[in-house]
Amino acid sequence: MARTALNSPADDSRLDALLHRLTAARATNIGFPAAVDVDYQPLAPLLGHLLNNVGDPDTDPAHPNHTKDFEREVVAFFAGLFRAPQRWSGYITSGGSESNLHALYLARSRYPDGIVFHSSAAHYSVSRAAHLLGMRTVVVAAKANGEIDYDEFALLAELHRSQPIIVVANVGTTMTEAIDDVGYLHDLLVDVGVTERYVHSDAALSGIPLALCDDPPAFDLADGADSICVSGHKFLGTPIPCSVVITRRHHTERVSRAVAYTSSRDSTITGSRNGLAAVMLWAVLQHHGRRGLRDRAQYGRELASHVHQRLQDIGWPSWRNSYAQTVVLRTPPPTVLARWPLPTADRHSHIICMPGINHLQVDRFVDDLAALTLPHSVSCPEADAPQRLRHLVG
Ligand SMILES: *Cc1c(COP(=O)(O)O)cnc(C)c1O
Repeated sequence: MARTALNSPADDSRLDALLHRLTAARATNIGFPAAVDVDYQPLAPLLGHLLNNVGDPDTDPAHPNHTKDFEREVVAFFAGLFRAPQRWSGYITSGGSESNLHALYLARSRYPDGIVFHSSAAHYSVSRAAHLLGMRTVVVAAKANGEIDYDEFALLAELHRSQPIIVVANVGTTMTEAIDDVGYLHDLLVDVGVTERYVHSDAALSGIPLALCDDPPAFDLADGADSICVSGHKFLGTPIPCSVVITRRHHTERVSRAVAYTSSRDSTITGSRNGLAAVMLWAVLQHHGRRGLRDRAQYGRELASHVHQRLQDIGWPSWRNSYAQTVVLRTPPPTVLARWPLPTADRHSHIICMPGINHLQVDRFVDDLAALTLPHSVSCPEADAPQRLRHLVG
């Protein structure tokens, strides 16, 4: 039977307008963590097929419309990258939020009365996942740079040491790309006598660049994490949201169940899963390999260093965490934000130098900022502004 082709953007004004809006927005979209250097359009013929990776990736479903062979290669790549032990498991989720939910689900099945510790800089999906799972949470203060306050963590852990403690470590916080040291968090728990513990690394943004740089802070499975996740639509720039979660295998065995009609076991949250995401991730990993990914990460850090320097040159308060692709700056005036949409909280905004963002774009941003603010700052002395912001770095 002939299939009905939907309208193409060119013959539908709504779709056409949407495409125009997305294309036009590209030039000034430098505040959000999505790489834009990979063109996934060669995979478009796959849109002619349903791709549903129902259940765990290990077993193929009864239906033919799946890409689990690709998914297995993708999760194996990440298990290697994040130095998983011999017995691991993992799957491609709908995004970092599902990955965090899955990780806390595993943690709860291991420690039903465990308390979830996370910092105030954690992604909002962490507290929502804990809420959905009915788990108690303890919110630890974050230091000015966004990293968890280890002293407060140790104090609060000691208070709760009679119960298992489940820690969600931020490996790249949303606003400042700060990294909580997984090894140090374990040490602190040992110090206060907590033996029943589970640590999840939320590495949605920074997992890949960090794994590929020399001598990163402790964050992966070999460093003591029980589970780790990374997003696909951030550093890898997939055009659909997705994420990969990798765990120690004994954790998933506890929640996995056999499903007769799909002939797959299932320990996933969602059951039916996006098989197109698996092929996209496979294709980008094939294309770049570890070396290409490392070069892209290096590019982002160098561009961030360039932006930071340029902002310093025009006297606009800014700073950057070690290893970060993110440059934090004092929130620009509304006229600048109207053109350059930047995430903003507490009078701070950020630029994220993802692969595909180029020097020309960030230089234009700094020029716009300089042009709009310099005449103003002559009458209103702001020369000491960089000093005033310095306390945030310490
Ligand atoms: C982006 C992000 C998430 C959410 O991930 P999505 O894949 O976008 O759902 C969770 N945690 C951190 C630290 C993030 O940066």
